[in-house]
Amino acid sequence: MCGIVAYTGKRNIIDTLIDGLRRLEYRGYDSAGIAVLDKNKITTVKSVGKVQSLVDKITPAMKKELSKGKIGIAHTRWATHGIPSEPNAHPHLDEKCRFAVVHNGIIENYALIKEHLIGKGHKFLSETDTEVLPHLIDDCYEGDLLQAVAAALKKINGTFGIAVISSEHPEQIVTARKGSPIVIGVGENETIIASDISAIISYTDKVIFLNDNDIALIDKDKIDLRNIDNVPVSREIAHIDWDPGSAEKGGFEHFMLKEIFEQPDAIANAIRGRLDESLGTGTLSGLNLSAHDLVSVNRIIIAACGTSLHAGMVGEYFFEDLADIPTEVEQAAEFRYRNPIINPGTFILAISQSGETADTLAAVREAIQKGATVAGICNVVGSTIPRETGRGVYLHAGPEIGVASTKAFTCQVAVLLMMALKFGRSRRLSRQTGIELVAEIKRIPDLVRKVIATAKDIEKVAKKYAQAKDFFFIGRGYLYPVAIEGALKLKEISYVHAEGYHAAELKHGPIALLDENVPVLAMANNIPGKDKIIGNMQECKARKSPVIAVATEGDEEIRKHADDIIWVPECSQYTVPIPSVVALQLLSYYIAKERGCSIDQPRNLAKSVTVE
Ligand code: GLU
Repeated sequence: MCGIVAYTGKRNIIDTLIDGLRRLEYRGYDSAGIAVLDKNKITTVKSVGKVQSLVDKITPAMKKELSKGKIGIAHTRWATHGIPSEPNAHPHLDEKCRFAVVHNGIIENYALIKEHLIGKGHKFLSETDTEVLPHLIDDCYEGDLLQAVAAALKKINGTFGIAVISSEHPEQIVTARKGSPIVIGVGENETIIASDISAIISYTDKVIFLNDNDIALIDKDKIDLRNIDNVPVSREIAHIDWDPGSAEKGGFEHFMLKEIFEQPDAIANAIRGRLDESLGTGTLSGLNLSAHDLVSVNRIIIAACGTSLHAGMVGEYFFEDLADIPTEVEQAAEFRYRNPIINPGTFILAISQSGETADTLAAVREAIQKGATVAGICNVVGSTIPRETGRGVYLHAGPEIGVASTKAFTCQVAVLLMMALKFGRSRRLSRQTGIELVAEIKRIPDLVRKVIATAKDIEKVAKKYAQAKDFFFIGRGYLYPVAIEGALKLKEISYVHAEGYHAAELKHGPIALLDENVPVLAMANNIPGKDKIIGNMQECKARKSPVIAVATEGDEEIRKHADDIIWVPECSQYTVPIPSVVALQLLSYYIAKERGCSIDQPRNLAKSVTVE
């Protein structure tokens, strides 16, 4: 999620680290820091905000002093645990300042480790999960840096991309990865390590991509590669010929496409450590609701705007089906102005990727004022909504740069499903059903991966319909909100007039607009309601509309009713919105591309709507 840079070589250490951080900053981070090692002393500088505020903090005298160092590590943080603040910014150190660590990822069992280390006398300064790492390394250290880091990593659950320096080893850097990327750039008498190739390519085109559980010791310009069990491994040196612009996007043409493709990992991050397999429930600690609070909720209102509103609509189905709690979804602006009825058992859920959406924030304030229990589902840690509600479930989706939301939506839906499961298990949902649902939720990243693997087929369909001026998207049940979200995606980035409707609503007016020039995309996956939607597809065909179906793999029958088909793997109605919407994101993306649109910055749109 964040940016890591580490360097050893002849260049000026400060300039090199800062240059690397700037190249990673396109993703938009919340704080930054560096640690430089000179002989046996580690010096750190940290600041909240952009890399420029870190640069401003380093006075010419400081820079001169720090530049004596030849080794350093640097970080731009995308907070997951603890607000963006200087103590929470990386690098983190143990209290003897012997080990400095930058980390990208999430340490799931950090609370237990922290407690254990505090018991042994360690003192912590931050709220981050990361800070346990330098303390653990210190605890495991017996004279060998690589061994100490490997031993520490063996004790943690979760994901990491790390770089570590030590005052005991003035010429070494240790780096390792599991779930978060690390690339080592191999230069002439220099090595630059980064979480993203964009920080490396202006120095060298020779890189080594670490695999999960690889750990590397860089000692001057020697690289010793092992796995975490200390077995030497060999990795090829790859040659990269990307230009810096495409490197920022990980080789993808647009951030939106990169973010669509990132979804298996983003969703895996959103669900990691939040499912209890044996109890068959979700464990969303950020909600801060006791068992008693959970059962006291007798009504849920979800307030949101745009794509988050559509995620909320899926959430309504989850809460009613799995937890038997009457749920309403409200456009946040409407909620704030129409004087909603809020009773003691009303639970308000505000959904906003940025955590700053003006109307959603105003709805939150209105609800707090009326004494409601309010929680946020947001992506940006420390943003206003989770701060003001004091209850928040973070998506952990990583920064979303493309204006049209993709991975935030799928992570929101995944979080809502886990939340409904938690509420359900506090009521009538049986343990067995809970266990089955947990297994289904765990399959989601794989379901999405399978849809992404068919991107080329979706692109073909997109090319065929790219010149249509109007589009209808129809769905039922869990796929009704998905149809609306699909239509929104298409209009946002391709400027094609697209309407999302409940399939049954078509006959009540919109069908008047159908003819051979108006394609209809029908969500015809194998879930309850499919038979009905087939009827609706027939109605559209009878009006000469071309019909594109999103259908379940292997459903040969559907061919009779559709002109084109986009396949989605078999899954239950609870998980089907996620892989299905990914198919629609890809369809919109390729239509917009075919039409030559500015995909990452569509006209008239802003990423975070902070005005009414
Ligand atoms: N979990 C760590 C933190 O919140 C690392 C976040 C990141 O990847 O930037 O500090």
